[in-house]
Amino acid sequence: MKERITDLFLKTFSMRYDIYPFSVKMADDCYYFVTKDKQKKYLVTAGYPEKLKPFKFECFDGKNVEVNQQDFLFKLCPLTHINLVKLQNIFSYLKPTCSKRFSKPSFGTGDRLGIATPAHIQAFQGKNIFPVLAQLSTREITRTESSLQRVMDNAIWGCFEMGYEGPFGSDADHIKDLNNLQEAINCGFTLYTLDPSDYINNDIGQYSKDELRLKYQELPERRKIEKKYLGREIKIGKQKLSFEQDSLAEIVLTFGEAVKYIVIFYKFLKEKNKQDFELEVSIDETPGPTSPLAHLWIVSELQYQGVNFQNLAPHFIGDWEKGIEYIGDINTFKRELELHCQIVSHIGGYKLSLHSGSDKFSVYPIFARETGNLFHIKTAGTSWLEAAKTISLCQPDLYREIHNFALTCFERDRFSYQLTTDLKRIPDIDRLKDEELVTLFSNNNARQLIHITYGSILREKDEEGRYRFRDRIFQTLFTHENTHYQAVSEHIKGHLDLLNF
Ligand SMILES: [Zn+2]
Repeated sequence: MKERITDLFLKTFSMRYDIYPFSVKMADDCYYFVTKDKQKKYLVTAGYPEKLKPFKFECFDGKNVEVNQQDFLFKLCPLTHINLVKLQNIFSYLKPTCSKRFSKPSFGTGDRLGIATPAHIQAFQGKNIFPVLAQLSTREITRTESSLQRVMDNAIWGCFEMGYEGPFGSDADHIKDLNNLQEAINCGFTLYTLDPSDYINNDIGQYSKDELRLKYQELPERRKIEKKYLGREIKIGKQKLSFEQDSLAEIVLTFGEAVKYIVIFYKFLKEKNKQDFELEVSIDETPGPTSPLAHLWIVSELQYQGVNFQNLAPHFIGDWEKGIEYIGDINTFKRELELHCQIVSHIGGYKLSLHSGSDKFSVYPIFARETGNLFHIKTAGTSWLEAAKTISLCQPDLYREIHNFALTCFERDRFSYQLTTDLKRIPDIDRLKDEELVTLFSNNNARQLIHITYGSILREKDEEGRYRFRDRIFQTLFTHENTHYQAVSEHIKGHLDLLNF
């Protein structure tokens, strides 16, 4: 019957549309699927009018035909939020859920352009990994002029297009203020990643011992903390970790305010969010790595204060530059990670989360093994890089324009990142033939150039206020959708393959 309906649709609309075959679903005698013309995608609802009517989908075109001697209606509907909510009420698997309900690792695929979810779903096929398909940090949302709601909606439309009926998560990533948190709650996110980095005091390491002690003496909660931690010795694996006066002072002065922030935000979440949710505490955006002792103090303190969190993202030792391999001694990383994992086992109730996970291929097998296959990993920029790579293959002239523009904004855009990028080591693209442009994506410097300038590229406007690249980027990726999907899914699959051990 499904095929009869889609054939009828194609004939009725004189073959102007293509149907996404996996998307075709039926519920209560009505049919729903995604279709596209040369410009856009649409939702089609199809059924006997009295059956379709109660749902009141927003639509802009409809055609009546005859099926079984009865009036039958096809409606062409825009992919709006309102229509998505209606669809979610019919197909409840289109609502995001919590990964803690499944005992498996989870993996986040940030989608800066909001069109990569179908490719991400393809990558997860056959993998025993929980996908977090809606995930964008506050910073990425600002830079791409998106919104939490759009991030969520784009991912869910992607699920529907692929006919995906499995569970998936949604991560309001790197939330820093209560307004953002409230907005994320309103959108129905299931994972909240709280980023207290504005409250972490990164200068403490530079204090002299005397300065440190003086500052610590001023803390009103000092005695209470000392009673709990001072002199305490905890056996973690083969090592003993203990809080001495100075090490405790340093940790409390660095992270004390951040813990308070997490507690306030957690209470806010508990009060305002009536749905089940999970919480990630991210302290990865600090200049230096999180020591095992600091990890131990933070989680002990959070649990002591009643914060029920599921993930902790420490800043692991080494350099986690965007979109390229891990930089650092992998054995040192492994040794530190072992200790972090032993703390997790000792305290219990949460798992480790790895941020900036794009292209850290050497780290993945170690991370999966050491965490006992219970972890979360986030990637984001790497899917955008695959989109840019697709443009270099399918629309070389556009890529050249983007690349040259990116070179002019790199110095300005790099300030929020820790990078070793050397622009001089990027080949001069005027000397590259069109078919050679793709080789730039194997050059770490060129990767980082495109990785971090995405916001400037997507927001740049000409004198008349029109986007200089944005619309052409979307149009190119729409026209060459299969190439784009294939590039993204293969690249993400390359990540996921390393996590099955
Ligand atoms: Zn992060």
